[in-house]
Amino acid sequence: MNNISSDYPAFLANPEKQIFIDGQWVAPLEGGFIPTHNPATGEVLAQLARGRAADVDRAVISARRAFEGPWSRFTPAQRQQVIMRFVELLERHYEELTMLESLDMGAPLHGRLRPAKGGFVQTLLYYASQARSIHGETIPNSLPGNVTTLILKAPVGVVGGIIPWNAPLFGQFNVIGPVLATGCTAVLKPAEDASLSVLRTAELLVEAGVPPGVVNVVTGLGSEAGAALAAHRDVNRVAFTGSTATGREIIKASAGNIKRLQLELGGKSPDIVFADADLERAVPGVAMGVYSNSGQICFAGTRVFVQRSIYEQFIDGLAAYGRSLKVGDPLAVGTQLGPLISQRQLDQVLGYVAKGPQEGAALVSGGKRLGGPLAGGYFVEPTVFGNVTNTMTIAREEIFGPVASVIPFDTADEALTLANATDYGLGSGVWSSNLGTVMKMVHGIQAGTVWVNCYGLLDPAVGFGGWKQSGYGWKGGTAQIEGYLAQKAAYIA
Ligand code: NAP
Ligand code: MG
Repeated sequence: MNNISSDYPAFLANPEKQIFIDGQWVAPLEGGFIPTHNPATGEVLAQLARGRAADVDRAVISARRAFEGPWSRFTPAQRQQVIMRFVELLERHYEELTMLESLDMGAPLHGRLRPAKGGFVQTLLYYASQARSIHGETIPNSLPGNVTTLILKAPVGVVGGIIPWNAPLFGQFNVIGPVLATGCTAVLKPAEDASLSVLRTAELLVEAGVPPGVVNVVTGLGSEAGAALAAHRDVNRVAFTGSTATGREIIKASAGNIKRLQLELGGKSPDIVFADADLERAVPGVAMGVYSNSGQICFAGTRVFVQRSIYEQFIDGLAAYGRSLKVGDPLAVGTQLGPLISQRQLDQVLGYVAKGPQEGAALVSGGKRLGGPLAGGYFVEPTVFGNVTNTMTIAREEIFGPVASVIPFDTADEALTLANATDYGLGSGVWSSNLGTVMKMVHGIQAGTVWVNCYGLLDPAVGFGGWKQSGYGWKGGTAQIEGYLAQKAAYIA
């Protein structure tokens, strides 16, 4: 299992990682390290510096200095150029970065399920294009006399990026991209379970020509470094992705200096399959909507609503597809699903799996931790529950593991009512060949995204965001860029 090859990232040659402030590796002021694990083996992979409030303060000072200093003199074309140079480095170091991420959080390295290199590159190229597209407006006014009215746009300032562990590279590019495009600066706090790819990226950004201090990284605990960043008086905006519970804390912390927020929180997304759907596409589509990244995706389509006439057939297909997936060593060729991130996450998922039958759900397939050569890691079988009702715990709470709860319905109206009976509103899916049904669902579902006859597609120009308790603030697209800009009206008489 642990046959790590010569590709083992040089970044881990020294496994004691410091924090990255002003383009330099520095020791945290109070000292101390926290271990980060390889979830495929349970072994300690590296030691992360335990940054605290004083370190966050240093990082924010550095970010403010860069914001007001050298970075403010970059023209839009120069900001675009620096993103393009970073894209070149990203392409060159892609294997290294994804290897770091696989070791750190367990995403399969070779599988087609892994976000393709092209996805990251396209995301950053989109932001490079935005660097030169930002503009204000001239608005005709109705004032007496000769008054010109303009709307100016300026970067909002220092951004705190709080990054989750489930896809750190993707998560950080969704902050770094708009930061570089708009001329903001950032302090990133990656998750203590998966900080390594974020730390390495910070170094590459400086190599690409991003001035020191524009992107700083403070590792540490959420309750220490994360909370200090969320509360910091000189941070103008926080971009947070994570649980709804922590999102509530971020909102409270923002009150101190009335920070702007972008929150992408939890989900319990419905994926609705009508009897007229093309099942050859719907079965794998729904399955991967749940099982990709071992279910650790905020928009995972874990509440699967299936029209009653195809319910049994669909459940059999879903269970068979889950059993066919290769779960194992994230570094091995052919692996489709890796481990869960941590013992804590494993305990949480197995706790929900135990709760299903207690509340009357039928375990159709999966549900067990994998042993044998995988016993050291946090591996769980792709799992299907049938006979689920919308009120059971496994249909209401975010499990964040490879668990599908399959619920029957009769009519489109009933499917809509059930799908919307949740506190969340992040993703959703509809599988049908009837345009009328599709449009009814597209209009009726209360969620930030509806995928029709597909699931989980994302384009940086389109973007993504939540309704209800899944958060607010759009991620991607021009709406996101606007969130990194402050608007100013000028009345010129
Ligand atoms: P979490 O606690 O919300 O963590 C997300 C990020 O926030 C991490 O960087 C975390 O740092 C940081 N953080 C934690 N407490 C904080 C605080 N008081 N102030 C500021 N930052 C803080 O999520 P988690 O504990 O990793 O996972 C718990 C659940 O969240 C999962 O089971 C899942 O349901 C959900 N989740 C959702 C997403 C998503 O994409 N929507 C992603 C991850 C998790 P530390 O990790 O160092 O504590
Ligand atoms: Mg780790």
